[in-house]
Amino acid sequence: MLCLNCKTDSLPVLSRNGPHIMATCSECGRYIKFLAQKKDGDFVMPFGKHKGKKLEDIDAGYLQILHDHVRISGRIKGLIEERLKKDI
Ligand SMILES: [Zn+2]
Repeated sequence: MLCLNCKTDSLPVLSRNGPHIMATCSECGRYIKFLAQKKDGDFVMPFGKHKGKKLEDIDAGYLQILHDHVRISGRIKGLIEERLKKDI
């Protein structure tokens, strides 16, 4: 996701903002954009190769990488952790 401020194209920092996911730059912290979610409480992957998919439809290996390497807000991280537990 390209940051218009520092031109870094990297995985953004995701945080929950009302019914939306807010993406901010992992380098400079600048707001990039809101990512609309299909309905509240239902996290839909907003970027990457699984964009638009629900957590349960994404393979655990990918989620583990995301979980370990991307700064994600607590609530979304919790959802990913729940999803990973189901897969073990
Ligand atoms: Zn930036």
